[in-house]
Amino acid sequence: MKDEEKKDKASLMSPRSSLRPPPSSLYSPRAKKSLGQNFLTDARVAERIVEALGPRPDETIIEIGPGQGALTSRLVERAGRIFAVELDFNLAESLRRQFAANSNFHLLEADALDTDFCQLIAPDKSARLVANLPYNISTAILQRLIRQRACISEMVLMLQREVVERITAPPASSERGYLSVLVEAYCEREALFDVTPQAFRPVPKVWSTVVRLTVRPRMAVEVEDEDLLWRLVSAGFAQRRKTIFNNLRSAPVELSSRLERTGGARPALEAAHIAPDRRAETLYLEEWAALARSIEQAPNGRETLN
Ligand code: SAM
Repeated sequence: MKDEEKKDKASLMSPRSSLRPPPSSLYSPRAKKSLGQNFLTDARVAERIVEALGPRPDETIIEIGPGQGALTSRLVERAGRIFAVELDFNLAESLRRQFAANSNFHLLEADALDTDFCQLIAPDKSARLVANLPYNISTAILQRLIRQRACISEMVLMLQREVVERITAPPASSERGYLSVLVEAYCEREALFDVTPQAFRPVPKVWSTVVRLTVRPRMAVEVEDEDLLWRLVSAGFAQRRKTIFNNLRSAPVELSSRLERTGGARPALEAAHIAPDRRAETLYLEEWAALARSIEQAPNGRETLN
């Protein structure tokens, strides 16, 4: 983004371009890069995102990072209640002013990474969520949202295109990683449309994609110990060039001692019918679950065989 920002600044300072009006009334030359501030300035894209969400007058919508209100101004017209979480103090101030007349608009000036969304919407039990997420923390926010899925039924998110490719990557594709397996386990995923960098100010270097994640009523696979499953997936992807067996053999201490207590990585993989020389990205979600179950079901305290 550095080069694009430099170009933006340079063109603003050149005598020719200084006569030109800013590309949009929403343009902010002081966008904070540290907060991932690339504001959506293309009204058609904003309309399409809100249309994809389809907010209803009888429901609660959460918006993360309302920024200059590109999506918010459309949400307040259609949703029953909007809870917006914005970290930037200056933007929060101007949003309060901008939407002072909208009694359905509620602003929380806070870090979305620390926000308890279930508490935020109480006494409502469930809400849908929309966001043009700041790219620098989008995967961290996504993981937090998944942890709080009990009160979020659906998310329409604009993310960096590469992140959506990772989220939707099927087994055996090179983009498949921890995030792909995690999101697949808890959500149905649908990539909706791509958005050109020109739709934002400042103009980012990357394309974006809007994705719909519908939270499943139950996890897509059955395991007793979800924590064990995610430790396995995380260890399995630790070094992408290594086989699943080698990655599990050098797993962090908590997982490796659990593996040792139940006989080691090799018998666990065998019990799950997974060849030890496979790589993590080739495993299907159901195979990860079978691996977790093989450890859950193994008798404790067997000797380590690997
Ligand atoms: N929704 C606006 C739009 O579409 O133009 C702004 C999107 S901009 C990519 C990301 C927004 O998230 C900014 O307003 C930024 O200040 C805010 N933000 C960044 N980090 C945040 C965090 N940790 N918690 C809440 N908001 C955050």
